[in-house]
Amino acid sequence: MSDPNAQRQIPQPPPTEARVLVIYTGGTIGMTPQDGGLAPEANALVKGLRKMPMLHDEEYAKEIGLKDNTLVLPPTEHNKRVVYTVLEYSPLLDSSNISIEDWGTIGKDIEKNYDDFDGFVILHGTDTMAYTASALSFMCEHLCKPIILTGSQVPIFRMRNDGRDNLLGALLIAGQFDIPEVCLYFYNKLFRGNRVTKVNAESFDAFSSPNLDPLAIAEVDFLINWDTVRRADHTAQFHVSTELNCNVGLLRLFPGITTATVTAFLQPPMEGVVLETYGSGNAPDNRPDLLAALKEATDSGVIIMNCTQCLKGTVSASYATGQVLKDAGLIAGGDMTPEAALSKLSYVLAKKEIDFDVKKKMMGKNLRGEVSDFPETKLSLSDGRFIQVIARSLNANYKEKLEAIREALTPPLACAAARIGDIDALKGTNFSLSDYDGRTPLHIAACEGHLKLVEYLLSHGVKVHAKDRYGDTPLGNAVRFRHKEMVKLLRKAGAQLFRDELDKAGTELCSLTASGDLEGLEMWELAGADLNQRGYNGQTSLELAGALGKKEVVAFLEQLKKPKPVFGEIREQRDDE
Ligand code: ASP
Repeated sequence: MSDPNAQRQIPQPPPTEARVLVIYTGGTIGMTPQDGGLAPEANALVKGLRKMPMLHDEEYAKEIGLKDNTLVLPPTEHNKRVVYTVLEYSPLLDSSNISIEDWGTIGKDIEKNYDDFDGFVILHGTDTMAYTASALSFMCEHLCKPIILTGSQVPIFRMRNDGRDNLLGALLIAGQFDIPEVCLYFYNKLFRGNRVTKVNAESFDAFSSPNLDPLAIAEVDFLINWDTVRRADHTAQFHVSTELNCNVGLLRLFPGITTATVTAFLQPPMEGVVLETYGSGNAPDNRPDLLAALKEATDSGVIIMNCTQCLKGTVSASYATGQVLKDAGLIAGGDMTPEAALSKLSYVLAKKEIDFDVKKKMMGKNLRGEVSDFPETKLSLSDGRFIQVIARSLNANYKEKLEAIREALTPPLACAAARIGDIDALKGTNFSLSDYDGRTPLHIAACEGHLKLVEYLLSHGVKVHAKDRYGDTPLGNAVRFRHKEMVKLLRKAGAQLFRDELDKAGTELCSLTASGDLEGLEMWELAGADLNQRGYNGQTSLELAGALGKKEVVAFLEQLKKPKPVFGEIREQRDDE
């Protein structure tokens, strides 16, 4: 492998230029027809790229004196240039021939050239691109620059091909965006490299990231999903760990797999295995022989990861057939792809400086965004980052704009959190903020019957008397939705029905009486309403119940020997509430 710095003589670029190193390992993108079919051809790609105006501006290259394998894109609409140097491997490989050693070579070349470039693009065959992307994501420690793998389904020299767009998109992202991750760019989408899998051998849309949305989408503009992009890790210097353990393997369960097969697979020198299980991580629990073989292997120091055969979803121990694997010592792989789990094993097992138990812990932990944290980290509205992410996507960089967005978004979001009873999300916010309709988190929580949240809000200074646009209070809401304990709790905190609500009560009580709804009547009684109020036709509930022959209602009302509230005592809303 040659050092591109030795061959190229790029003048120091002005700040409007970004420099990208393209490591060309092979793959369809640069293949030409040969006797045995399509195969990579040495020294053909750069020659071809020089003739493609969308990928090389020859005039500008001459003007600034670019030589050898260094090319330059036409200017972007922001007048930025991406200058890129192609480091071509020899031999070029169909990615079916890529080995663990090749991952190490790519890693070393990135490390060697790390300081000289703003980003890296790796041209690679699609067949094993997901494996290489996953492996590099673990090998690259403390990464602060983008590394983007791409390739194509059709050679770049053909008239209709996906190689040009894929290479152009990868170069533009690597040169312009601060995405410090190992990614895979294909068919207008930028994925996290350790989340992808090849799903289609015939379509340009060849990759899927089933458990994580793309990091970016190339539309008219590049839309970056900053909320998902990982933050650069500046705690230590960038380093590529090229030590990888080859004694790892993938074993897919199928109905009828013999214990002999499993036992043979788990024999030394095997040190790490990804067991591809059914559904949410299940295996037969009526096969003690098979489970014993797995247990024997984990007891003797083989790390076995439980990953699902399903494209989408996660491993969980919700079934007995999943629990047995946990008992056999397998580590749950969550929603990791088998490609990610395998390369993670290879990376972790090669670490000489850490002991076995720590390695096992590392396998269950999220190292590079390869697995979702379950239970999901809760969103907190008080977390400034959340608002910043929204602001960034709305292109608001100024403090005032940020504040305006915060003010506009917090009330509806607080109400949304209250609807699902999410106390954590509400922590630190101003709970008394109301939405457009004057509804506060307390109103919502009272409607939904979230007792714990209401207790929390009341113990954190929330006003119990808030009235919404329609004159309703949280207590009135709790009555309407018949949350008895909620009504009691709010009453204990001093809540009272307001005049507007009481004005409606007489008619409402008569209607409940007519339908013999004792529960409804009891709600009003608990909320402190006078059950002797008259309805629109001048009758009290008791009179109406008598007239209608509703004996249980009569009995119910008569046993209520409550003193009538004095109307003047009914609390009026203060202006400041
Ligand atoms: N067989 C090719 C490779 O993986 C397929 C491709 O590049 O699309 O190298």
